[in-house]
Amino acid sequence: MPFIDFFRSRKLKFKILLLFALILVLPLAILMAVTLDRISLVASQDFKRSLNYAASLFRESLEDQLDSLKIRAKTVADFDFYALAGMGFTASSTLPLMQYELIRSGLDYIAIVENHSRILIDEGPSPVGALANIVPAMCHSPLNVNIYVIEDEPWIFAAAMITKLKTDQPKHVLFAQKMPKDFADKLKRLTGAEFTLLYAGKRILTSQMDLYSRRKTGRSTENPDLTYGRTEILGKSHVFVREEALLGRISESIKLEIALPDSEYLILGDSMRRDFIIFGLLGLVLALVTGSVLSWHIASPIDILAASTSLVATGDLTHAPTIDRNDEIGLLSRNFREMVTSIRLEKELKERRMSELNTLFAISNAVNYFSDSEELLKFVLTHAIEVLEAERGSIMLLDDQTDELVVKVASGGRYRVFAGTPVKLGHGICGQVALEGTGIICNDGFKDNRFRNFGSLMPVEDIKSLICAPLKFKEGTIGVINIVNKRSGNEFKDSDLSLLNLIASQAAVTIENNKLYELSITDGMTRLFVHRYFQARLSEELLRARRYGLTLSLIMIDIDNFKKFNDTYGHQVGDAVIQKVAQSIRETVRTGIDIPCRYGGEEMSVILPETRPEEALHTAERLRERIASIVVPHSSGDLRITVSIGVASYPVHSHDRETLIKVADKALYASKGNGKNRSTLATENLLT
Ligand code: GH3
Ligand code: MG
Ligand code: MG
Repeated sequence: MPFIDFFRSRKLKFKILLLFALILVLPLAILMAVTLDRISLVASQDFKRSLNYAASLFRESLEDQLDSLKIRAKTVADFDFYALAGMGFTASSTLPLMQYELIRSGLDYIAIVENHSRILIDEGPSPVGALANIVPAMCHSPLNVNIYVIEDEPWIFAAAMITKLKTDQPKHVLFAQKMPKDFADKLKRLTGAEFTLLYAGKRILTSQMDLYSRRKTGRSTENPDLTYGRTEILGKSHVFVREEALLGRISESIKLEIALPDSEYLILGDSMRRDFIIFGLLGLVLALVTGSVLSWHIASPIDILAASTSLVATGDLTHAPTIDRNDEIGLLSRNFREMVTSIRLEKELKERRMSELNTLFAISNAVNYFSDSEELLKFVLTHAIEVLEAERGSIMLLDDQTDELVVKVASGGRYRVFAGTPVKLGHGICGQVALEGTGIICNDGFKDNRFRNFGSLMPVEDIKSLICAPLKFKEGTIGVINIVNKRSGNEFKDSDLSLLNLIASQAAVTIENNKLYELSITDGMTRLFVHRYFQARLSEELLRARRYGLTLSLIMIDIDNFKKFNDTYGHQVGDAVIQKVAQSIRETVRTGIDIPCRYGGEEMSVILPETRPEEALHTAERLRERIASIVVPHSSGDLRITVSIGVASYPVHSHDRETLIKVADKALYASKGNGKNRSTLATENLLT
C-alpha cells in the first residue's frame, strides 16, 4: 500500500509526528463530525416539531374563528332574523335590523343567500361589491368555512344552514369576517414563529415587523417560488417554510409562510463547530509540540545511536555517543559504549598480539633477508622498539674472548649512533641480565641503584625507564637487548618484559642462525662468498635482470702465473696473496650491491647487478690496477702479482648463467692470451 510504504520509508521523527497528529486530531475530527451530525439531526427534528406545532396552531386558531362564526350564524338565525326575510322583508327594509345585528354580534358583514345563490342582502360595509362576486362561487360548494381574499384583505367565511324558517325551506347563510389583524401576532406569541399569509406573492397578513416596528406588508421581497429557505427578521436568522395554506381550505393562491428563528441546536452546532475548529487547531499544535518533544527526547538519541552503530559496523570503534540519561535510552547508550569499548580493547589487544606475532615472525624470517648481521640486528631492534612502543633501544653482544658486552646497534632517540665502553658481565643492569640470563624491568631509570653509566653519549637523565632482556641461545647468553622509555611516558609492565623475552629468544636464534649462514656462504680464507653461493646468486640476479629488463655484468679474475709463484715462494705466501687480492676486491666493489666470490682456487669473480659492459670493464680495470699495486713483503724483497680479467654482460653477451660464465671465462683467457695483466670485455668473436 502506498501510504504504508511511504510511512515505512520515513524517519522515526516523522512517524512520531504523524502518529501524534493522527492520534490527537483524527479522533477529535471524528468526534466533531459525529456530534455535529447528531446536533443537526436534533435541530432538524426540533425544527420540524416546531413547524408542525406552529402550523397546527394556525389551523386550530382558524378553525376556532370559523367555528365561532358558524355559531354566530346560527345564533342570528335563532333570532328569527331569517323569518323576517321570509315574510317578504326586502334587503333595504331589513337593513336597520341587520345593522343592529352587526353591532350586536361584532361582525363586519353579514350576507344572506338563498339556495340558488341569489344575494338577498348585499348591504353593509365595503367591500360589498366584491363580495357579491365571490359569494355565489362559495355557495356552490358544500356549505363550509373558508378564507378568501377580497381587495387584498383576508376574510374568513362561515356558512350555516337555516332551517327554522316558517316556510320550512332551508336557507343557507354565509357569514364573513375580516381576519383579525393580530391573528398572526397571537400565534407568534404562542409559538415564537413568524406567520405570513401570501396571496399572489403579496403579504396579506403578517406578524413580521421591520426595524421600525412596522408590519411588513405588500409584495414579498423573497422569492415567492421558494418553499424553503432562510430569511432575516430584525437581524435574526430564521428558516421559513411555505405551504399551501390549510391544505385546500384557503384558495390556491394563498400560501402560509412560517418562519422559525434558528433553533437553539443550530446555534449550538455553529458554536460547537467553531469550538471544534479551535480545539482541532490547538490539538494539532499540541500534537506537533508533543511529537517534537518526543522525537527530540526519543528519536534524536536513537538517531545518534543508529548513526554510531553504522560507524561501528564499518569498523570505526572510536564513536560511541554519551547520552547521559537515567532511562532505557541512557542504559542503551551506556551499554553500547561499554560494548564498543570492550570490542575496541579486544581489537587493540588482537592487533597488538598480531603485531607481536608479526614481529616474531619477521625476526625469525629476517635471517632470509639480511646477509649482513648488523642489518639483521638493526631490524630486530627496530621491531622490538616499535612493538613495545618505546623511544629507543640497543643490542649488545657478548664478546667470547673478553666476556664483555659490546653495543652492536642502537636506534631511536636523539642519538642515532650509540657509543660506550664495553660492559663487563655482571656490571650494571645489562651486565646483570647477561650474567643471570633473566630480564629486568627498571622503572626508576637512571636513578635505580643497579644503573651504571658506561660512557654512553646519551644523557642518562633521559632514561626514565628501561627493560633489558637476555639474548639466549641454547644454554648460553649471547647478548642483551635494551629498550628505553615508553613513548606514552608510562612504566614498563611485566607483559612488556614477557614480550621482549619472546622477541629476544627469537632474535637470539635468528642471530645465531645468521652467523651459521654467514659462515656457510663465506669462504674462510678470503671472506668472499663461496662458489655455491656465487652460482645461486648469479641465477637469482639473472632472473631479476630478465624480469625488469636490466643489464648485469660478470667479472672473472685469475692470478697470473700463480703456479710458479707458489712454487717459488711456497703455498703459505700464496695464500697470503690470495687473501690480499680478495681484500682488494672486497674494498673495490660496491658494498651490498656487487657480489664478490671465490670462484675456485686463485680464481675470483664479481657479479655486478645493473651494470653495463663498459662500466664493468671500468671496474675490472680499477681492480686490476689496485691488485697490481699490492706489495707482499718477503725476505727476498717485495713481491707483486698481477691478474688477468674477463668481463661479460647479460643480455649483450649471453642469456643464461652457463653461457655468461663461459663467455667471461673466454674473455679471461683472451686476457691471458694477450699477455696477461689486462682486462678483456667479451666480444662477438668470443661468443662462438
Ligand atoms: P696462468 O697465468 O695461466 O693462470 O698460470 P697459472 O700458473 O696461474 O695457472 P693456473 O691458474 O691454472 O694455476 C692455478 C694454480 O693456483 C694451481 C694452484 O697451485 C694454485 N692454487 C690454487 N689454489 C690455491 C690456494 O688456495 N693457495 C695457493 N697458495 N695456491 C693455490
Ligand atoms: Mg687459475
Ligand atoms: Mg692463474
